[in-house]
Amino acid sequence: MGRVGIGYDAHRLVTGRKLVLGGVVIPSEKGLLGHSDGDVLLHAIADALLGAAGERDIGHFFPNSDPRWEGASSLIFLEEVRELLKRAGWVVENLDASLIAEAPKIGPYLEAMRAAIGRALGIELTRIGIKATTNEGMGFPGRGEGMAAMAVASLEKA
Ligand SMILES: [Zn+2]
Repeated sequence: MGRVGIGYDAHRLVTGRKLVLGGVVIPSEKGLLGHSDGDVLLHAIADALLGAAGERDIGHFFPNSDPRWEGASSLIFLEEVRELLKRAGWVVENLDASLIAEAPKIGPYLEAMRAAIGRALGIELTRIGIKATTNEGMGFPGRGEGMAAMAVASLEKA
C-alpha cells in the first residue's frame, strides 16, 4: 500500500535575488528570499516527499543555521531526499505541485522544471505534475509580496 504526503511553503519576493523555481532560473526583477536559493516549489515538493515517508520536514534536514546550505541550489535538497527515500526502501509513485504566484508566467519554463526535478529524483517525467496559478490579486501572492507552493507526493515500497 502506498503513502501520501503534503507540503506547503511560502517565500518573500525581494529585489537583488535570482528567481529560481523548480530548479530553473527565471528572468525576473525580484527573487525569493531564503537561506538557500529560496526555491519555494522544490521546498514544497521536498516536504511532501519527506511527509509521505514519515520523516521530519525540510527545516530539520537542511536548517537555515547550516552554512552548507547558504545560497545552495534546492535541487541538492531533492537529491538528498532521494537518497533518504532510497535508504528507507521507498520509490516515488508520483508528485504534483502548484505554484501560487502573480508573475511571471512560468508556462515557458514548466518542461525545464519537470526535467530538473526528474533528474534530481531519478524519476520519469510522467510522474511529475507542475502547475501554476495566480491568486487573483488577493493576499500576499496577489500583491506580489511573495510566492507560495503546495505539493502532494505518493510513495510505494521498492
Ligand atoms: Zn522554503
